[in-house]
Amino acid sequence: MSSPIITRFAPSPTGFLHIGGARTALFNWAFARGRKGKMLLRIEDTDRERSTDAAVTAILDGLTWLGLTWDGDAVSQYARAERHREVANELLKRGKAYHCYCTPQELEAMRAKAEAEKRPIRYDGTWRDRDPSSAPAVVKPVIRFKAPQQGETVIEDHAQGRVVIPNKDLDDLIILRSDGNPTYNLSVVVDDHDMGVTHIIRGVDHLTNAARQTQIYLAMGWSVPDMTHVPLIHGPDGAKLSKRHGALGVEAYRAMGYLPAALRNYLARLGWSHGDDEIFSTEQLVEWFTLDSLGKSASRFDFAKLENLNGHYIRHTPDAELLRHLLAFMPHAEGGPDLLARTDDAMKAKLLRAMAGLKERAKTLVELLKGAAFLYASRPLSMDDKARQILVDGGHAALAALHPVLAGAGDWTAHTLEAAVKTHAEQAGLKLGKLAQPLRAALTGTSTSPGIFDVLEVLGRDEALARIADQAKP
Ligand code: GLU
Repeated sequence: MSSPIITRFAPSPTGFLHIGGARTALFNWAFARGRKGKMLLRIEDTDRERSTDAAVTAILDGLTWLGLTWDGDAVSQYARAERHREVANELLKRGKAYHCYCTPQELEAMRAKAEAEKRPIRYDGTWRDRDPSSAPAVVKPVIRFKAPQQGETVIEDHAQGRVVIPNKDLDDLIILRSDGNPTYNLSVVVDDHDMGVTHIIRGVDHLTNAARQTQIYLAMGWSVPDMTHVPLIHGPDGAKLSKRHGALGVEAYRAMGYLPAALRNYLARLGWSHGDDEIFSTEQLVEWFTLDSLGKSASRFDFAKLENLNGHYIRHTPDAELLRHLLAFMPHAEGGPDLLARTDDAMKAKLLRAMAGLKERAKTLVELLKGAAFLYASRPLSMDDKARQILVDGGHAALAALHPVLAGAGDWTAHTLEAAVKTHAEQAGLKLGKLAQPLRAALTGTSTSPGIFDVLEVLGRDEALARIADQAKP
């Protein structure tokens, strides 16, 4: 039996969950889930100055909201420093690492010399083979990895292909600082090994690290995980995605009213494809996802495409489920907490009844909530400019004539009300629009809404008639 697939997502908690990080997590998740494997979560919190608890919370919240579940508890990299030190010393014992006693001045001179000679800055190996008995007593040494100097390091990468790095280009990396703190590449290798990670899927910006990490694996006699370095996400203009293009944090996409399923679908298509399929379920993604179907070139973030896709998801989400999304969204929306506080069971029933009409007109939950605002409005309704104009242009009078017609309708259902209004329109020689627009203004305070007879029914007899009476003037 082959060993289980184990992937991991390893964010640094220095801000929010970056949208690119979310895509990396999605690929790790889809790959593991499709193979009955596990996705682990490791918080790379060794940079104590920049790592914050708030960022850890934001990352966990972001992943949870996106539906990307991890297995077991999140691992703190910082908490494992002792184990990292142990491996640094093991490398030392094996002759795969050495103490380096260079002073900051010596390193600076090395740097200046390389610069003057226009060479890349590299450690020159001063202490690589030097007898430590000649070490200056005052200098606390670092531990450097004894990187191979001949040959090449090869990464068979699923997205990038075969990547060959000449070993002469990689110098002897510090793995333990003089204060005893492990450095990044050592920590990553030790953690991935100890966590049993079989597949590393991450951004292509880690490709050089991958070569250095491979050398450390080999020096420890550990098997090197299978590697995939995913191309970066660019903005619509082709430059690396940055703040000026738009939101970078997943929580901002949540606040903009995207559905997690739509964002998963959209993110999956950034760098991965399955034929010409643009819209697919998360189940299909999990079923179809393979590392070899990842592209090699950067993808462009298209905000309009995401919005359209989200509109599609909103229209195709069952009403009750969409209501759950809307309620979960309210705390994150502008003015949403207040609306949520006013959402009792009766209001939920109204929202549910109105959902079919509302969702046809919304690409985001922000728009959906905006569309539902008329349900929460209290009398007398405030009118937007267009609504006010409709009322002034004969709307008031039309409503005055219509009020008794509606009040006399047999029952308060969209069907009966529509029949009554149509009969009235015919008798008065009016086009239906001449009645529907004033009704819409009076009932919603705007000029756009779901079908007006649905609006009448959802509001209920008393509230609807009162709103109409408020605006009815002969
Ligand atoms: N912590 C790194 C980052 O946030 C990821 C390291 C890795 O995946 O190996 O970019």
